[in-house]
Amino acid sequence: METVLSIPSILLWLLLLVVLTFRYIIVAGLPYLWLFVIGKNKYKTRKLQKEIPNKGQIVEEVKFSLLTICIYSCGIWLFLYWLKHDYTRNYTDINEYGWAYFFLSIVVMIIMHDAYSYWTHRLIHHKILFKYVHALHHKFKNPTPWSAFAFHPLESLLTLGIIPIVMFIIPWHHTALTIFITLIIVYDTFIHLGYNFEQLKVFKWQNTPKDHDVHHRNSKYNFGLYFTYWDRLMGTYFKD
Ligand SMILES: [Zn+2]
Ligand SMILES: [Zn+2]
Repeated sequence: METVLSIPSILLWLLLLVVLTFRYIIVAGLPYLWLFVIGKNKYKTRKLQKEIPNKGQIVEEVKFSLLTICIYSCGIWLFLYWLKHDYTRNYTDINEYGWAYFFLSIVVMIIMHDAYSYWTHRLIHHKILFKYVHALHHKFKNPTPWSAFAFHPLESLLTLGIIPIVMFIIPWHHTALTIFITLIIVYDTFIHLGYNFEQLKVFKWQNTPKDHDVHHRNSKYNFGLYFTYWDRLMGTYFKD
């Protein structure tokens, strides 16, 4: 971590840009290749919407995701600056809080993020904000793995907001935060697969690609990210 923090600013931002872009290509590209290209016929019956999105949609999804990556790189640069100057509740030795806390902190991050995600998502569906912040993501009515981070820049900033909340509220180890961020990327891509995999639903309140597909088709329901309990509690859950 010290080595990363000692890299000059502009180089650090460029490095973040390269790493995030590479990670996006892998995390979105592999399932896309697997489901939409190689397994196009094999998984036909699992496709949630019959039509296969055209190339124009994919280009748009990638274009806005790359814009999100530029914004995220600036954000992470700023978070590393805070870390370097010890403004946050970071700790470096896992033994300081123990391994049980290390794993618990990841669970707490997920629960905090799920609440943050549900309520900010409800907020940007308000008629005053929707067209300026969130309409762009809803242009992709038939989502693909490339669309998970296809946001308007204002929505990219809003989604990034959970990281400083975590950094300033709970004691966090950089490995726990890295695991949490990786999970965000993987899970957000998972719910945008556009394909239904019941075997990947391991518990009742888990949010799935099928649930999120409902949200892309009818934006009154299913605002959740990892779980559906906020939707069930607030009466916004719709089981297709
Ligand atoms: Zn979505
Ligand atoms: Zn929405």
